[in-house]
Amino acid sequence: MRSDKEKCMYCGACVGSCPKNAIYLEETRVVFDEERCVKCRICVRVCPVGAISE
Ligand code: SF4
Ligand code: SF4
Repeated sequence: MRSDKEKCMYCGACVGSCPKNAIYLEETRVVFDEERCVKCRICVRVCPVGAISE
């Protein structure tokens, strides 16, 4: 998964939504742990600005 830096406002909604704790907020970007991610796409649906894609 990846987050579009142009769209993301660092609201943190995706972090709390991930059932696998595979998302972190760093200072200037959202980081996805591909080892943990199961591609459920919950984060994609939760993001208010549509910044996350596969
Ligand atoms: S697709 Fe699912 S498991 Fe992967 S980062 Fe998003 S919410 Fe987490
Ligand atoms: S939910 Fe969307 S806007 Fe919010 S931190 Fe995650 S990627 Fe960025």
